[in-house]
Amino acid sequence: MAKLILKRGRANPLWHGHPWVYSGAILREEGGYEPGDSVEVSDFEGRPIGRGLANPRSQIRVRMMTWRDEPIDAALIAARVREARALRERLGFPSEATTAYRLINSEGDGLPGLTVDVYGDVHAVQFSALGLKRREDEVYDALAQLQPRAIVEVSAGGFAQVEGFASATRVVRGPDDLASVRCRENGIELEVEPLKGQKTGMFLDQRDNRRRVGELSRGARVLDVYTYAGGFALNALKGGAVHATCVDSSARALERVQAHAALNGLTNVETVEADAFRYLETARPRSYDFVIVDPPKFARARKDLDAAIKGYQRLNTLAMTACAEGGLLATSSCSQLVDEETFERMLAAAAKDAGRRVQVLEVRSQGADHPIPPAFPEGRYLKFLLCRLV
Ligand code: SAH
Repeated sequence: MAKLILKRGRANPLWHGHPWVYSGAILREEGGYEPGDSVEVSDFEGRPIGRGLANPRSQIRVRMMTWRDEPIDAALIAARVREARALRERLGFPSEATTAYRLINSEGDGLPGLTVDVYGDVHAVQFSALGLKRREDEVYDALAQLQPRAIVEVSAGGFAQVEGFASATRVVRGPDDLASVRCRENGIELEVEPLKGQKTGMFLDQRDNRRRVGELSRGARVLDVYTYAGGFALNALKGGAVHATCVDSSARALERVQAHAALNGLTNVETVEADAFRYLETARPRSYDFVIVDPPKFARARKDLDAAIKGYQRLNTLAMTACAEGGLLATSSCSQLVDEETFERMLAAAAKDAGRRVQVLEVRSQGADHPIPPAFPEGRYLKFLLCRLV
């Protein structure tokens, strides 16, 4: 096995459990390795830290799999999958109300580059790194032990190119004609299409925040911007909202909103196919009691950060303007590069632009089925602020 020795002073995060070795932290490499091979990582003094899967193409040269002297093999992968399953059981997933949840959250479950989302009896798998993709059969075998009806792989998108592997959306195990899957979230019936949707079919990280929005929606006129399949709006209507306007640029997503509303006997849902900014620019000021904005990632790379923050500020100014006096605003960012402090500062600037006073009521993030190591702040990408507007 090849050995990678880190530069002086670069081992500390790894000793504490940070799972990434950046190429710039490596002093030298002893022995050759192929993309995806296991390697041993040592500190400057030559003390072994642990083992991971290496990819010479990636800036993240090694993704750590273990801090012990043990092989990275099928047994380790299967043990991690069982551990992940046990955690979800401990958290109460699945439950009567919720059968859509994250089973494996990459680094947070000791399986870097692997996401597995469960929709009812279907597992949707997405790889974002080469190491475990190269071991996909071991991953599928371990998942098959949990006896899902089907396992599907969802294309890795941009990651595949960066990491240098091919991936396609397909049924890996189970019926070929798998179309939509029935599942439930917060007691709401959903029909998810893992083979055709965005992400693995749903954005599960906001589940607890959707429930919270539902709890605060009685009597409200709701505006759900970037609604996707209607998650926030459906929770709001179930919680007693009088009306919900759902905005998204995807016609396909809006069809899901209508289907979900019908499935749950929820009425008073209006869907609008539009760009979020264009819609908000023409919305009647102060006409909604609860505005939710949950945009896609604005900052993909560090160089986009300034433009992204300006985008968030403009978006939030418009959202505040649409919000009635005493109304609520739930605003999110899933850009890992925008930290919580920056996000709150942006919100303060947006309040100034909108000429409104804002009270931050709750600062929230992703649900417990999205665990992360404490030494890995990169894993806590989701920011969700619940505010009141005066
Ligand atoms: N709130 C959703 C998740 C939103 S994901 C939930 O709870 O499930 C982001 C959504 O933004 C996607 O549905 C995507 O189609 C939509 N979107 C992307 N760009 C957009 C734009 N410019 N205007 C409106 N919607 C957009």
